[in-house]
Amino acid sequence: MPMPAKAVLLVHGGAGVINPDSMSGALEARYKNKLGDALVAGHKVLKAGGASLDAVVAAVKVLEDSPLFNAGKGAVLTRDKRIELDAAIMDGASLQAGAVGAITNVKNPITAARAVMEHTEHVMLIGKGAEVFLRNIAKKIGLTLVEPDYFVTARRLEQLEDALAREVERFDSTRSHKGLKLRKRRRAVGFDENKFGTVGAVALDEAGNLAAATSTGGITAKRYGRIGDSPLIGSGTYADNNTCAVSCTGHGEYFIRHVASYDVCARMKYLNEPVSKAVKQVISSLGKAGGDGGMIALDRHGNAVMSFNTSGMFRGAITEDGEVSVAIYCD
Ligand code: ASP
Repeated sequence: MPMPAKAVLLVHGGAGVINPDSMSGALEARYKNKLGDALVAGHKVLKAGGASLDAVVAAVKVLEDSPLFNAGKGAVLTRDKRIELDAAIMDGASLQAGAVGAITNVKNPITAARAVMEHTEHVMLIGKGAEVFLRNIAKKIGLTLVEPDYFVTARRLEQLEDALAREVERFDSTRSHKGLKLRKRRRAVGFDENKFGTVGAVALDEAGNLAAATSTGGITAKRYGRIGDSPLIGSGTYADNNTCAVSCTGHGEYFIRHVASYDVCARMKYLNEPVSKAVKQVISSLGKAGGDGGMIALDRHGNAVMSFNTSGMFRGAITEDGEVSVAIYCD
């Protein structure tokens, strides 16, 4: 996909093992259309003079509402069949940020993250405490509450069963070799083709302010209580007007250990690297460490980067004039 010279909004819908031969043309078109819808929704906000924060929320909501992606409806399940959603948002102008971890009761988790940013003195709320806060404030700020069942789809239930079965298979076949057994088991609960689909957006508004947002169900068959990189400020999500806005997707544990999104900003800040170089360096060192995934980043001049070390990443960009480009596989 040729990267537009200047963009105002980028979105991603997850990175992973995504090959043209594993996807029908019709499914590919559905993914691309939905990415396009998200870009148009965010662009509408920016075109009307709205804030980048509102634009990323508008774009992410479209992707959360689609069962195609691993966020909101259609999110992946924990190994005990629970839904646990993570999301974060950050305002590059003020460095204000909000995040939620392991929630189940708000239709659009990105709006829950924003509620934490705007209506508490905290950055992150998780689990029960987050849900009580969200339930109490829902009416006042217009959050849509749902039951956990709303998020569950047959496709994700099947994927979970498949992932757990493969895990047992791999574990059994390596029982005689302890080291190998552990390695394979670790790989079995790692990142593969069933586990991509996190969504994210970064935007630049007329006032020159950047914002980033990320929303996810995490990783298929994750442990109950596991939090990934997406809601961790500096790991999966970061925005600073002085550097750039970043949203990540991939094997969260690596993005956490590498403090990936802040590392991009730090490289720009301390090494004076352009956003393209900073992102490529971070993605490459994640890849060398075994961390599969990708990220989208936008600086305050509209320079856009979408980089990944997997075979594909659902992604798209829109220019100020509304020119949309979307892609799935490697260029
Ligand atoms: N980064 C997410 C997580 O580890 C998963 C993903 O991007 O697909 O929770």
